[in-house]
Amino acid sequence: MYLLSSEKKECYGCRACAEVCPQKCITIVEDEEHFIYPYVEKDKCRKCHLCERVCPINYSNDKAVDDLDREVWVGVSKSNEVRMKSSSGGAFTAIYRSLLAENYKIFGVRWDKNLKVIHDVATTEEECEKFRKSKYVMSNTNGCFSSIAKLLMKGDKVCFTASPCQCAALQAFLQTKRIDQDNLIVIDLICHGAPNQYLFDRYITEKIGDKEKVKNCSYQFKNKLPYRGSVNSRTAIVKRQGRKDEILTIQNDPFIKAYYGRLFYRPSCGTCKFANSNRVSDITLGDAWHIEEEYPEWDPLVGVSCIIFNTSKGKELLEKINKQMILRKKDVEWVVQNNLQFNVPTEMHKNRNLFFKLLESKSFKKSVNISMKKPIMLRAFRKIRSILSA
Ligand SMILES: Cc1cc2nc3c(=O)[nH]c(=O)nc-3n(C[C@H](O)[C@H](O)[C@H](O)COP(=O)(O)OP(=O)(O)OC[C@H]3O[C@@H](n4cnc5c(N)ncnc54)[C@H](O)[C@@H]3O)c2cc1C
Ligand code: SF4
Ligand code: SF4
Ligand code: SF4
Repeated sequence: MYLLSSEKKECYGCRACAEVCPQKCITIVEDEEHFIYPYVEKDKCRKCHLCERVCPINYSNDKAVDDLDREVWVGVSKSNEVRMKSSSGGAFTAIYRSLLAENYKIFGVRWDKNLKVIHDVATTEEECEKFRKSKYVMSNTNGCFSSIAKLLMKGDKVCFTASPCQCAALQAFLQTKRIDQDNLIVIDLICHGAPNQYLFDRYITEKIGDKEKVKNCSYQFKNKLPYRGSVNSRTAIVKRQGRKDEILTIQNDPFIKAYYGRLFYRPSCGTCKFANSNRVSDITLGDAWHIEEEYPEWDPLVGVSCIIFNTSKGKELLEKINKQMILRKKDVEWVVQNNLQFNVPTEMHKNRNLFFKLLESKSFKKSVNISMKKPIMLRAFRKIRSILSA
């Protein structure tokens, strides 16, 4: 555990320890790579150990049910508009619509007006729409563990959607405070890894300009507007006043290239204990990669959801989701075979450390391009192959 070992891979940057500390003696600080870690002011600490108890690294999952009881469904929203406005097939929208009707408060991740990625709460459809589309930056959990604790104590119903490490942190936090979780539904994502806000800020100011210019633009990952004739959700779109919308791809954009190239994730992502088929949620959402091999009408690059119901509480939602989506049944084994990050942590890029070193003196774009440059022989081979196949 980071609080005892100072081993960076053992901290997920969830902020739960700082939120729980009764002495308020934990501050969150950035290291030289701008990832956040807790710093304890030892002279103020009363050694109550609450910070250790809420740490997700210690969370032992009691949600898991036998694989035979778990249900896996794949599918797309019946509304093409919802599918296009979602990262995958629109499962999250089907879930929040069902839960809003039952007065749940929905916690999810949105952009703020300065393009910072934050957790927030929503109680209307319009507010929930801001949570749609993956933001490939680790969110600021923004005090939401304490807010959720208060809501549950009041008897409110809450749905929390987040990365698996954040889902584990919330549940460890509530366990430590002995708060009943019957009214809580937890939804995690199959997660590849996340960079920090500083990296996105460096990139976006280099691309767009100063804070004012950033404020006046909008940015969206998982773009589904066609690019060169086809939809590829592994692209992003940036919209600026007075300029043509720009579609950003692995080929033309350093952030997209670095994200999908696994260049700059948090150290914990490389050994993530939550990339594990024993999920820490009631429902796990992800992409149904390779589903076109069985159902050619479904293109995962346009977006097909994979929905894993891990608990009976999660499964209670199936009937309601089914009314809003076209669904087909699969099983956990199929997910294991087709979606690596379901149960295997991401392998970090071999030049990750070089990238962070370069970033100290070079631009974001140059640091990405130098760190991800292919060896000359490989480039020559690819060039010859493209000439021969032309
Ligand atoms: C950082 C990240 C990495 C991912 N990696 C993979 C992967 O490797 N394989 C895979 O199959 N799926 C991955 N996903 C999940 C996938 O991209 C979709 O988010 C998921 O299938 C839900 O799609 P949807 O169409 O149902 O939802 P949408 O309507 O698009 O909803 C998006 C959901 O993601 C949440 N969210 C958005 N950004 C963040 C964030 N930064 N942190 C936490 N939660 C966030 C929102 O609160 C919302 O619940 C990843 C998502 C994120 C955010
Ligand atoms: S042991 Fe208690 S007082 Fe000390 S840092 Fe942790 S939570 Fe705060
Ligand atoms: S509680 Fe979260 S922020 Fe604190 S040490 Fe553990 S993982 Fe890191
Ligand atoms: S890979 Fe693991 S540590 Fe990294 S953001 Fe996802 S759940 Fe958290």
